[in-house]
Amino acid sequence: MERIDAIVVGAGFSGLYMLHRLREEGLSTRVFELGDDVGGVWYWNRYPGAKCDIESVYYNYTFSPELLQEWTWENRYPDQPAILKYLNHVADRFDLRRDIQFKTRVTSAHYDQKSKRWLVQTDDGKTVSAKYFISGVGCLSSSNTPKFKGLDSFQGECFHTGSWPHEPVDFKGKRVGVIGTGSSGIQAIPVIAKQAQHLYVFQRTPQYTIPAGNRPYDEAFIRDTKANYGAIKQQMLQSWSGTPKKPPERSALDATEQERRSAYEAVWQDGGQLLSAFKDLMTNLDANATAGQFIRDKIGEIVRDPAVAKALTPSYVYGTKRPVLDTGYYETFNRDNVTLVDVKSAPVVEITANGLRTTEGDYEFDALVFATGYDVVTGPLFRLDVRGKEGVALKDKWANGSSIQTYLGIATSGFPNFFMITGPQSPALLSNNAISIEQHVEWITDCIRYLREHKLESIESNVEAEQAWSKHCKEVSDATLFSQGESYWTGANIEGKHMTFPVYVAGVGVYRGICDKVQANGYEGFSLTPYPANANAEAVQA
Ligand code: NAP
Repeated sequence: MERIDAIVVGAGFSGLYMLHRLREEGLSTRVFELGDDVGGVWYWNRYPGAKCDIESVYYNYTFSPELLQEWTWENRYPDQPAILKYLNHVADRFDLRRDIQFKTRVTSAHYDQKSKRWLVQTDDGKTVSAKYFISGVGCLSSSNTPKFKGLDSFQGECFHTGSWPHEPVDFKGKRVGVIGTGSSGIQAIPVIAKQAQHLYVFQRTPQYTIPAGNRPYDEAFIRDTKANYGAIKQQMLQSWSGTPKKPPERSALDATEQERRSAYEAVWQDGGQLLSAFKDLMTNLDANATAGQFIRDKIGEIVRDPAVAKALTPSYVYGTKRPVLDTGYYETFNRDNVTLVDVKSAPVVEITANGLRTTEGDYEFDALVFATGYDVVTGPLFRLDVRGKEGVALKDKWANGSSIQTYLGIATSGFPNFFMITGPQSPALLSNNAISIEQHVEWITDCIRYLREHKLESIESNVEAEQAWSKHCKEVSDATLFSQGESYWTGANIEGKHMTFPVYVAGVGVYRGICDKVQANGYEGFSLTPYPANANAEAVQA
């Protein structure tokens, strides 16, 4: 069996940087990637309109000053082709492809207690043994297609936004159905509406979304950003979200109605998240209600048909589902070729050969797009069939997600030398992922270097440390509104799934401080096991 130092799963933002850093440390490292090229979610998410809603100049690696200087983003929000181009550039620039095995699915990763190594099986029938096993699968890589009756009977073309074909898809002259109005649906719907002969949007929960305000960067902004990247990076590292935006200082309730409206209007006109307007929108229901009402009023102003406007108007607490940014979303429902179908009041009964049936009627179309999201956070991890000591499966340890317990969102007890980049109970789902990924990769790299320098065979988080961390995560999120609704954050989007809120919401800067302190204190909360006295040099090396 082949023996290497480290195995990383996934060649997206996480896996690429992890590979780069481990190679710099001199570790023999292999990345297994299912796709036939780099990119991770940005390789698979090629649906029309796919974009990131973190601004381009902040949604990139910051570890290499040279890379920061040589790469220039064109638009405020990067679209999928631009991000994929960037990641390909990174892969080439750091010569990463030679250690990535593409078109390979990890089918299991089991910890062998005897050899104290991870045995990782892949779908090419091979097993590789590694000292360290690192997940770079991210939170949003396991797409969810609801188990509708008759799913296989549809005779037209069928797509999922999370695994879009690489060949161009042309909806011109076609009747299209889109199920789902989360970030993906909201980005895809305005674009598909412009191509399709007719578009049916099947909406279960109406969404709060505000204009992204996407536009080309001007040269002066790019010049300034590049000149000041050192300072900007420091702001990003210390911030709540991982971007350098200054946090709001004022309560929405201290402002007059007119001041609030003008603050919201300024964000609406410029684009970006409304949550940036006041400091207490996610901690105070009354403050939050003012933001929700602002968007509800906008919907009434934009959408001409009052019945459609009403159906598009959300009533849940703003921000308890991920707030969305859009380009012309509500306006799309003024088009003659777009029909909004409320599948909350009249649920989907079945998919038929020619479309779908709700409790109120039949809809016929030629192509069906599932924009139904992901089995978030635990989905991609459980798919790896990770088993730790005594053969315990991660899935069983966390009882399918209802009892997630990690230490710092990076490690979990019973799984030595297993690291999760942007794992549950880290800030990842709510932060600028590029920054959160870099932080985890660097923490893991430092940790592995420490193990090697101190001739330590393994690291494993302590049960007490992860219980305390999980409790702390819950206390912090319970003090906010984030965890109070039904969202994919809590697993409510998937039938039968129930998950504890898996995000550390104290913010990127606070979290970084905690992780750094754990490291500075010799990995407090972890058990570090030395190699046995009689271990040979080769075993200690690898
Ligand atoms: P999502 O936010 O989970 O939205 C899924 C949509 O499908 C929701 O409207 C959901 O309705 C609906 N749905 C699910 N099951 C359904 C069913 N059985 N019947 C009818 N409707 C159903 O997924 P997403 O839009 O793919 O976004 C996921 C995340 O990916 C984003 O929040 C973001 O983190 C990331 N993403 C980011 C961007 C970006 O940067 N702009 C773009 C795309 C994705 P309910 O709300 O009722 O559950």
